[in-house]
Amino acid sequence: MRRLGLIGGMSAESTTTYYQLLNQGVRARLGGLHSAELLLWSVDFAPIAQMQAAGDWDRAGAHLARAAQALEQAGAEAILICANTMHLVADQVTAAISVPLIHIGDATARALVGHGVKRPLLLATRFTMEERFYIERLKAFGLAPMIPGEPARERLHAIIYDELCQGVCDVGARMAVMAMIERGRTEGADGVIFGCTELGLLLEPGAVGVPVVDSALAHVTAALDFALA
Ligand code: GLU
Repeated sequence: MRRLGLIGGMSAESTTTYYQLLNQGVRARLGGLHSAELLLWSVDFAPIAQMQAAGDWDRAGAHLARAAQALEQAGAEAILICANTMHLVADQVTAAISVPLIHIGDATARALVGHGVKRPLLLATRFTMEERFYIERLKAFGLAPMIPGEPARERLHAIIYDELCQGVCDVGARMAVMAMIERGRTEGADGVIFGCTELGLLLEPGAVGVPVVDSALAHVTAALDFALA
C-alpha cells in the first residue's frame, strides 16, 4: 500500500470525513484489520481563510507548499489537499514536490463523466464557483458546469464559512441549498457537484433527485485507487 499525505484542516470538519472514508475504503478493499497508511498535516484554518479573503493566494500557496514538502520528506507518496478552494494554488504546491498531487477537480470530473452528467450545478465557495481554476478543470473533461446566481452564491459562501466549517449543520441551510438545486434543475442542470468538502455533512446525495458527485468522496476514491494500485 502506498502512503498518502493529507493537507487538512480546511476545514477540520471535512478532514475528519477524509480520515474516516480512507480507512473504511482500505478495509472494504483489503478486509480484516487493514487501514490506510496516512500522514496528516492539519493547518490552522483561520489564517488561511484570512489570506483567501484578502486574495493573498501566493502566501496561502507557499504555506501549503511547505506542508506538502514536509509530508513528502516524511514519506508521503502522493499529496491530497483536502479542500476544493485551495486547489487554486495546486500549481504552486505541485511545483514544490516530486510526488503526485491527486487533484480533487480531476477526481470529481471523472466521477461526473462516469454518471453520464454533462451540465452539473457546481455548489462551492465563491472562489471555487467564480475563479477559473476549477471550472476550467471540469471543462477539460467535456463538462459544461453551471453555477447559481449571485444572491445564492453569496448565501452558499456564508453557509460554508460561517456554519459548515464551524461544525454547524442547520435546517435553514439545508433548505436553502435544496432550493438552489431545484432552481438549477429547472435551468437545465442534469447533476450536482458538492464542490465543497463540507457539503456532504449537510445533505444526503440520495435526497437530491439527480446524480450528485460529492467531491470529498470522489477525491477519497481516487486516493484509494492510487494507494492500492
Ligand atoms: N472545504 C472547502 C472546500 O472544499 C471550503 C473551505 C476552504 O475554503 O478551503 O472548498
